[in-house]
Amino acid sequence: MSTSAQIGVTGLAVMGRNLARNFARNGYTVAVHNRTASRTHALVEEFGGEGDFIAAETAKDFVTALERPRRLVIMVKAGEPTDAVIQEFAPLLEPGDMIIDGGNAHFADTRRRERDLREQGIHFVGMGVSGGEEGALHGPSIMPGGPKESYDSLGPMLEKISAKAKDGAPCVTHVGPDGAGHFVKMVHNGIEYADMQLIGEAYQLLRDVAGYSPARIAEIFRTWNTGRLDSYLIEITAEVLSHVDAATGKPFVDVVVDQAEQKGTGRWTVQIALDLGVPVSGIAEAVFARSLSGHAALREASRGLAGPTATPLGEAEAAAFADRVEQALYASKIVSYTQGFHEIAAGSEEYDWNVDLGAVSSIWRGGCIIRAAFLDRIRAAYDARADLPSLLSDATFAQEIAAAQDDWREVVVAATRQGVPTPGFSAALAYYDALRAERLPAALTQGQRDFFGAHTYRRVDQEGSFHTLWGGDR
Ligand code: NAP
Repeated sequence: MSTSAQIGVTGLAVMGRNLARNFARNGYTVAVHNRTASRTHALVEEFGGEGDFIAAETAKDFVTALERPRRLVIMVKAGEPTDAVIQEFAPLLEPGDMIIDGGNAHFADTRRRERDLREQGIHFVGMGVSGGEEGALHGPSIMPGGPKESYDSLGPMLEKISAKAKDGAPCVTHVGPDGAGHFVKMVHNGIEYADMQLIGEAYQLLRDVAGYSPARIAEIFRTWNTGRLDSYLIEITAEVLSHVDAATGKPFVDVVVDQAEQKGTGRWTVQIALDLGVPVSGIAEAVFARSLSGHAALREASRGLAGPTATPLGEAEAAAFADRVEQALYASKIVSYTQGFHEIAAGSEEYDWNVDLGAVSSIWRGGCIIRAAFLDRIRAAYDARADLPSLLSDATFAQEIAAAQDDWREVVVAATRQGVPTPGFSAALAYYDALRAERLPAALTQGQRDFFGAHTYRRVDQEGSFHTLWGGDR
């Protein structure tokens, strides 16, 4: 056993434990530590054979076990626990050492921590990690921020443990300074919410409008997964839909309480988008849809409200409708990613991060929850033009949406007519139409604002700011 470790992991719940094992399996000596020491010993007892671990009971033992400059990964609950752990370790570290926070921190916290630790000469790297516990073990998508020089020594280790895209490229890059990594991870999660909502809407339409069973819908998703929608989320959707509950023999999806939970990164994506003035309506609808689902009492009280009389489609019509739903799902997905990448671009601009959007799409191609063949297309769009104003400005995406739009509109019409809620599909379509529009009713809004608040307006035919004397005694 080695006496000095190249990397240390503190916080050995599912994520930290698996990340530590991933480092060890890749040949690194890993110091491991957890507030409750029994977890540390359990890890070494159970997985000690996988590689070289140094179990440390105390913070001092942990720090002493690390070779200099030290690389110390924190994988604890985000928020106060992360601050508590930093406060415990920072006094034991020396200038040049590195603290890497792999938790789901809010990027503003990461910016604060980076600034504070910089004063002590400690490099703080806020590192987004996606892929859940399986990803942490077999190769996650990793989004490190922090000082560029820290990536020189940390990067090669992360490249080894990260997922690899189909072309073999490691799914990790230095995203940008201070909170850039956690910001990009946050938007990744926001896009994940939107993807899941859109898939959910496609499922509900196939169920309620086409009249298909979960098992049949699973087959449709399996087919879609061989085409342009090929992705981890579509793949697991087919698995979930074909799963039968052992106790009742019913489709699994019918025995699960239909109230979706959330941990907060989707909500942050929307909150920050509001602060930055970026319209992420699809992601917002996904967050609100989860929120609405959880209002059990409100839903119960609303059950008697009137809706349309639904008319199920015939067999031939249903098959054609399923194809249309694929078009609507794909077009809405393009819009979700357009909105998410807009938010990253806006954050990058606001905080001077210089985030390479093509590189972000590239590191999401493997390991993470939103991994998808589609991300190759996004990378190609940014490769062709790094300063693309919007993904919708890319000729290929624009053509695909043009080809999908009639079906997309039909699906939204059918959903509306049959009373199936499709906030994701509808919001994506409204965003698309608003961007395309020659004129928006924002002109009327400006008139109203000037009327009641003398807020002024700009004219289409003259420079400057104008106010109309609206008459009356206002
Ligand atoms: P978790 O349940 O979020 O956190 C449990 C860990 O935090 C335990 O090791 C616990 O130590 C430690 N901890 C809590 N409060 C502490 C404190 N005040 N001081 C010291 N240690 C404290 O674990 P997780 O699910 O493995 O996630 C770890 C981090 O990764 C989180 O930030 C999470 O958001 C992020 N993440 C999770 C996933 C996922 O799929 N689960 C994916 C990506 C990122 P004790 O054992 O002593 O209680």
